[in-house]
Amino acid sequence: MSNHKRLILPGPVEVRPEILEAQTAWMFGHRSQEFADLFDRLQVNLKRAFQTENRVYVVGSSGTGFWEGASRNCVRDDRRVLHAVCGSFSERWAKVSKANGKQVDVVEVEWGKAITPEMIADALEEQTYDAVCVVHNETSTGVLNPIQAIGEVVSGYEETLYMVDTVSGFLGAELFVDEWGIDIALTSSQKAFALPPGVAFGTISERVLERAKQVENRGYYFDFLSLEKYYQRSNTPSTPPISLMQAADKQLNDIFAGEGLEGRWARHKQMRDMSHAWVESRDFGFFAQEGYRSPTITAVANTRGIDVHELEAFMAERGFAIDKGYGKIRGETFRIAHMGDLQPDTIEEVLAGFDEFLGG
Ligand SMILES: *Cc1c(COP(=O)(O)O)cnc(C)c1O
Repeated sequence: MSNHKRLILPGPVEVRPEILEAQTAWMFGHRSQEFADLFDRLQVNLKRAFQTENRVYVVGSSGTGFWEGASRNCVRDDRRVLHAVCGSFSERWAKVSKANGKQVDVVEVEWGKAITPEMIADALEEQTYDAVCVVHNETSTGVLNPIQAIGEVVSGYEETLYMVDTVSGFLGAELFVDEWGIDIALTSSQKAFALPPGVAFGTISERVLERAKQVENRGYYFDFLSLEKYYQRSNTPSTPPISLMQAADKQLNDIFAGEGLEGRWARHKQMRDMSHAWVESRDFGFFAQEGYRSPTITAVANTRGIDVHELEAFMAERGFAIDKGYGKIRGETFRIAHMGDLQPDTIEEVLAGFDEFLGG
């Protein structure tokens, strides 16, 4: 472990030793009472974390799998799905819908901009959609979309389900699933949830189940009606990632016994503010539009033209793994991932390292 670098990455993030340890508990069978107890404990805490009364499916996959499940179960063959695209991940979810044979329309903004409720309202006026898909926190650009305001628009359309990817937002940015009218909020473990990768979570409304009954080819692994049947018995159709569920159990228990949701959201805002102050005072820019900047990740516009590969190597020597920007905006941007269980003093160390690099 001596050459371990602390992960300042937008996934997988640094995982606390206590959480890693929780995965080493003795194994038990998933058709046991012990498993049902774990399942039920998780449901209580997950519902609280998502602020919902709806069930939360737990599936052994990354977030991408749950994208596939959501698209597959919620869009009928002769209907259309609307994807709001504002960066790499929202773009990829639209591809997933297409790859599953769905008829996809896209509303798109330039990378760095947020989706507006008006855009969604206009699209819904033009065409009836089975679902609208929006990414809460676009990890590639550092944009936090106005999920609540978009939800108000979508709620005016009875047939339209509201599906939200909160993979890098969940537990780092405010999210009120029921209040905001979200039918599916999906996430994976390795981002702001601060668990190892390998398990995905998604809230499922009654409307989703009604819809799934009208969809013929729901696939097998992510068939919501099958997941529902087993959910009713505090179980899963196939063997679940028990060790990761133990880690999730520990993490959620710790959150609710400790800082709580509000405290966690506030800590992320504090780390965001520290990052923003650094960006401004060091004459860098922000890639994300003002007013929509994420509390879990800051995409820095590299206006000083520093060599991000050199920065990465410099920080690696100091024991940090940092990000060099995503895909087509790598170099033009780099990202400060301030999510999960990272503490403000770690961000302080990271920013001090950046300063040393700039000074050297
Ligand atoms: C990382 C990420 C995904 C993909 O999740 P995986 O767990 O890697 O499959 C989807 N959406 C967003 C916003 C992400 O940041």
